[in-house]
Amino acid sequence: MTNFRNLTVLSHPLIQHKLAVLRDKGTSKKTFRALVEEISMLMGYEVTKDLKLEPVEIDTPLERMTAHKMSGKKLTIVPVLRAGLGMADGILRLVPSARVGHIGLYRDHVTLEPVDYYFKIPAEAEDRDFIVLDPMLATGGSAAAAVTFLRRRGAGRIRFVCLVAAPEGVQRMLEEHPDVHVYTAALDRQLNEHGYILPGLGDAGDRLFGTR
Ligand code: URA
Repeated sequence: MTNFRNLTVLSHPLIQHKLAVLRDKGTSKKTFRALVEEISMLMGYEVTKDLKLEPVEIDTPLERMTAHKMSGKKLTIVPVLRAGLGMADGILRLVPSARVGHIGLYRDHVTLEPVDYYFKIPAEAEDRDFIVLDPMLATGGSAAAAVTFLRRRGAGRIRFVCLVAAPEGVQRMLEEHPDVHVYTAALDRQLNEHGYILPGLGDAGDRLFGTR
């Protein structure tokens, strides 16, 4: 397997088991949706493990103590429309108070540059931790663009979480955003000529939303 210094593959058995079912073309939409949420939640546990804590004084029923709570502004998750939406609820189950931004992107046919047709994130972006969500890191074009748009709006600390990554996408993120760590449940073999990940799981948006 290729080693990328910006990549963590989360190989927990529960994640790998659920991913196997997710990839299977016979898996129903209902199960697919539920699994995307469950895997995202399990991944979220690892992805958030270095978030900062601060000491707080609390009173238990028995005595006063110093406990620890998350410090700073609320964590912000940013699903990239539309497939990233399927991952958001999983992270929100872990961090119910997280803020949610949204990014919608398309590629301009003339300039070939990515354009954000929708962009909304909470204020004070520079003080927040962001987790960008998109199930498939394929060419890396939209992932890199999403991070670029976040940066332009001042976002400081950004992580990227996907379910399946292609080496091409991880490499592109490394070149364009070396400081953004990428978390995935699997690093697959390659892209095909249409930009789909092999072996992959097909079109994540279509499988989530029942389109095509
Ligand atoms: N987007 C998908 O939904 N699937 C792929 O394999 C690549 C990009």
